[in-house]
Amino acid sequence: MDKALIEENRKRLLAEQKRLRSILGFDAVVDGASEFPGEFKPRFPEFGGKDDENANEMAAYETNLAVTSDLEGKLAKVEAALNRIEDGSYGKCKHGDEIESERLIAVPEADTCIKHSV
Ligand SMILES: [Zn+2]
Repeated sequence: MDKALIEENRKRLLAEQKRLRSILGFDAVVDGASEFPGEFKPRFPEFGGKDDENANEMAAYETNLAVTSDLEGKLAKVEAALNRIEDGSYGKCKHGDEIESERLIAVPEADTCIKHSV
């Protein structure tokens, strides 16, 4: 495994982690997962009390939920990749192969080689 590539990807993953956490509404400071207990709860938007306003609130909330779920999935992959860098297993496919460098450059959080990516 190329040390320089791992270091480069560590920086990219940390930047991505910070970006995703900030979009999700986490504090921008990212030192320690214990600061963020439990799951992120999407804000329930308050547009007003009328029926049409309530319907709009519900639609916006559902959009928030879907977006939040996507972002949380991505954040989990990024954080899992950072953990693999820490424990030395980064760059290994979960089926045992080495992940190709070009794949890690394209997808720093990849946990499978190209063959096992589909
Ligand atoms: Zn593989």
